[in-house]
Amino acid sequence: MHNNKVFSLSLWLLIPLLAACGAEQKPSADAPDVAFGNKSEVRVAQVDAARLLGADSEPQNWMSHGRTYSEQRYSPLQRVSTNNVADLGLAWAFDLGTQRGVEATPIVVDGTMYTTSSWSIVHALDAKTGALLWTYDPQVARDKAGHACCGPVNRGVAVWQGKVFVGAFDGRLIALDARSGEVLWEVMTVDPNQAYTITGAPRVINGKVIIGNGGAEFDVRGYVSAYNVEDGSLAWRFHTVPGNPADGFENDAMRLAADTWTGEWWKLGGGGTVWDSMAYDPQLNLLYIGVGNGAPWNQQIRSPDGGDNLFLSSIVALNPDNGEYVWHYQTTPGETWDYTATQHMILADMEIDGKPRKVIMQAPKNGFFYVLDRASGELLSANNYVNVTWASHVDLESGRPVEDPAARYKEQPVLQFPSYLGGHNWHPMSYSAQTGLVYVPVNDMPAVYGHDAGFEHRPAGTNMGIDGIVGSLPDDESERRAFGALIKGRLLAWDPKKQSAAWSVEQAGPWNGGVLSTAGGLVFQGSASGKFIAYNAASGESLWEFPAQTGIVAAPISYEVDGEQYISVSVGWGGAFAMVFGEYVQAESLPNVSRVLTFKLGAGNQLPPVDWKRTVVFSPPELTADEQELVQGFRLYQDTCMGCHGLNAVSGLLLPDLRGSGFLHDSAAWRAVVVEGRLKERGMPQMDYLLNDSQAELIRQYVIQQAWRGKKLQEQRANDS
Ligand code: CA
Repeated sequence: MHNNKVFSLSLWLLIPLLAACGAEQKPSADAPDVAFGNKSEVRVAQVDAARLLGADSEPQNWMSHGRTYSEQRYSPLQRVSTNNVADLGLAWAFDLGTQRGVEATPIVVDGTMYTTSSWSIVHALDAKTGALLWTYDPQVARDKAGHACCGPVNRGVAVWQGKVFVGAFDGRLIALDARSGEVLWEVMTVDPNQAYTITGAPRVINGKVIIGNGGAEFDVRGYVSAYNVEDGSLAWRFHTVPGNPADGFENDAMRLAADTWTGEWWKLGGGGTVWDSMAYDPQLNLLYIGVGNGAPWNQQIRSPDGGDNLFLSSIVALNPDNGEYVWHYQTTPGETWDYTATQHMILADMEIDGKPRKVIMQAPKNGFFYVLDRASGELLSANNYVNVTWASHVDLESGRPVEDPAARYKEQPVLQFPSYLGGHNWHPMSYSAQTGLVYVPVNDMPAVYGHDAGFEHRPAGTNMGIDGIVGSLPDDESERRAFGALIKGRLLAWDPKKQSAAWSVEQAGPWNGGVLSTAGGLVFQGSASGKFIAYNAASGESLWEFPAQTGIVAAPISYEVDGEQYISVSVGWGGAFAMVFGEYVQAESLPNVSRVLTFKLGAGNQLPPVDWKRTVVFSPPELTADEQELVQGFRLYQDTCMGCHGLNAVSGLLLPDLRGSGFLHDSAAWRAVVVEGRLKERGMPQMDYLLNDSQAELIRQYVIQQAWRGKKLQEQRANDS
C-alpha cells in the first residue's frame, strides 16, 4: 500500500503551482453580445418550484443541473435501451467555437436547450435541431484566466420563470431573458481585486439563486451566496472558513470553526471555496454544499499548530432560506493535500442494514466513498473506491480517517494515492435506482507532496498559494515512464450499500467524462480518448460508441421532444489534468473540437473529418544557461507557467506547446510576451507582477532545455518505429 519508498520518485515535481491559464491556440472570433433567433419560435424557460419538485413527472425535460434537486443524473426515459442502443446515431452537432475546456451540463426545458461553453458564453438552442436561438457573451477579460487553476471553464446555467442564470468567470452572476438572451440584471458576487472565479452552475431554490466561487489555489476565503431572482439583491451569504477573529464573526458557525484553526490563517485566505457541487432536499429544507481545499495547501503554513480547519473539505448542510448552518461532515480534517469535498453529491433513499435511510453520497478527492444520513450528517459508511495510501480507513465511531503519519510530508516528500486531482474530481457521477449503483468516473493516480523550505507566500491573488517540492528534474526516461504507468482511469460502478465495486471498466487514461444513467438500463460516458460510449448499466458491457473527435469531460443528459428521446453531451477536452499533464496524455490524443453532440435512434449524421495529427516541430536554439540557472528556470516555470503550459513544458493540448515556440529564438520577443503582455488579448497574462526580465530569460532557457529533450525523444521514437 504505502509504496512511496518503492518508487524512487521523490524528486518528481508534481505539485503544480498553477497560474495564468489564458493563452488560446488561436483567437476565436468575437461573438456578438446577443444574437437574436427567430422570435416566433423562441420558447421560454417557465420553470418554477412546483415543476422542479415534480421533475420526475416530466422526464422529457432536464430542468436543473443534476436533473432533479437530488442530483442523481438518472433519466427515467427508456425509449433508448440496451435492446436498441446500437441504432443510436448523431442527430445534430453544434459548434461551440472555442478550443478551451467544455464542462457544461445543458438544461432542456420544453424543447429549448440552454448551455455554456468556455468563457461563460451562453447558447440557447432548439433541442430538436440544434439551431441557434441566441448567444450571450459576458465578455470576460481574457487575462482573467491568470486567476484560474484549471482554465476558463463553465459547468452550465440554471433557469427559473423565464430567466437564465449564469455565473461568469470573472465573478458576476448574470440573469438573462430566456427568450432573447438580453441581460435583465447582473451583480458582482466577489471582490474583483482578489483571485475569485466562477466555474460552477448556479442552482435556484424557492426564488433564490445560489452561487459559489473558486480560487483556493490563490488564497481566497470561500463562501456561497444566495441572490433574489427578481433583482439580484443579496439574500444571504455563508462563509466556509472563519475570518480574522478581531473583526468579529459573521455567525456562530464561524465562531465554532475558528476554534479549529491556529496561527494567522485569515492573512492567507484559508480557501474552502464552494466551486461546484450542491444538492437540495425539499422535505428537510436543507441545501448541501461541497467545500474545497485549504489555502495554502500545506497545513503547516496555513494553520501551523494543526487543527481540523473547519469547514475545509466538508459537506455542509444549510437552511436555504437564510443560509444558516445546520450540520457538517468533514471528510479530511486538517486538509493538506488539495483533497476537496466539492465533488458531486447525490441524495437517495435506500435501505441500509434493514432501515430506510435518507442518504447523501459523495466520492470526494480523498479516495473514500461516503454514505451519510442527510438529515443529521451521521456517517453511515465509508470505504476507499480507489487506491488510497494517506489513510488506512475511516473509523466509523469517530467518523475520522486514520492517517498514515508520514502522509503530512513534514519530514520528507511522500508519493501518495490519490493525487491532488482526486480519486474523483468534478466530473459528475450518476445513481440509478434501477441498479442501485453509483457510476463514478475515477482517476487512479499518485502525486508527490512535499514542503519547500524556500516557499514564500506572495500576496493573495498574485500567485498560487501552494507549497510544493522544489528540486531538479531527473532526466531518466524510464522513471518518467514508470510514473506514467501508475496513472489510470476507470468507470466504476459502485454499490453504496455494500461499499464495494460491482464492476469497472479500465480506460486509456484518467480524466474521463461525467456520467448519465437511464431507465433504458444504460450508462453513458465520454472518454478522454474521444469516444462517447453506452454501457450496460448492470454489467459494464460496452454496447455502442461514437467517435467524438475530441476528449470528453462533461456529463451527458437525456430529454425528449415530440416523442423522441435524445442523448446529448458537450465535448471538448479541458480542466486541470488536460492542462498540466500533457506529458501523460496518450500519444494518440485528439485536438480540442468543442461541440454539443446530440444523438437519437435511427439518426446517422456525420461529423466533418478532422486532421488528428498533432506534432510539435522542435527546432530549439543553443542552450546557453548553466546547470544552476536551469534549476532556477525550472523553479520559476513551476511557480508561474506549469499550471497552464504543462508539466515539463509539455502542453496538455489546450495551449501552444512552448517547446515548439518561435519565441525561443528571440529573447526580446519572449520577454515582450511574458513580461510585457504582448499576447494579453489572446489570454497570455502580463506576468510583470511576478517576473522580471532576467527571470523570464531563465524560464526561456528551461523551456529550451525541455525542447531539446522533446526533440531527442521524438527522434528516438522515429528510430524505434
Ligand atoms: Ca483545489
